[in-house]
Amino acid sequence: MSADCIFCKIANGEIPSGTVYEDEDFRVILDISPAAKGHCLILPKQHGKNLLEMDDAVLAKVFPLAKKIGQAMVKATGAKGFNVVQNNGEAAGQTVEHFHVHIIPRFDAKDSMV
Ligand code: 5GP
Ligand code: ZN
Repeated sequence: MSADCIFCKIANGEIPSGTVYEDEDFRVILDISPAAKGHCLILPKQHGKNLLEMDDAVLAKVFPLAKKIGQAMVKATGAKGFNVVQNNGEAAGQTVEHFHVHIIPRFDAKDSMV
């Protein structure tokens, strides 16, 4: 845990958030500024500023969790698809330096990214 990291505080329950899922290693929250209704962020409880700083043991659990959240999101929102996005570094659009994965529901191809 990094003392001045907002996502550490959220992931570890020090700051309340719209939690949609929690287990030993992760908290999944609703994005404060959603790209689409239902946009979630997977936050590991372990701090690493980006993909390169994360332990492989944690990373091995990320895609199975993304699958679980994606399935639940499609069911809950009626989305026709979803994006799984993960940014590394300011040049790539990362604004919070605590590794996280976006799960973004999509309802129409014209709204999708890349
Ligand atoms: P990045 O651009 O770093 O990949 O994504 C950061 C995301 O975190 C953005 O989509 C932003 O809206 C979201 N975010 C930033 N601060 C907070 C916060 O305090 N709470 C929540 N729920 N989301 C946040
Ligand atoms: Zn952190």
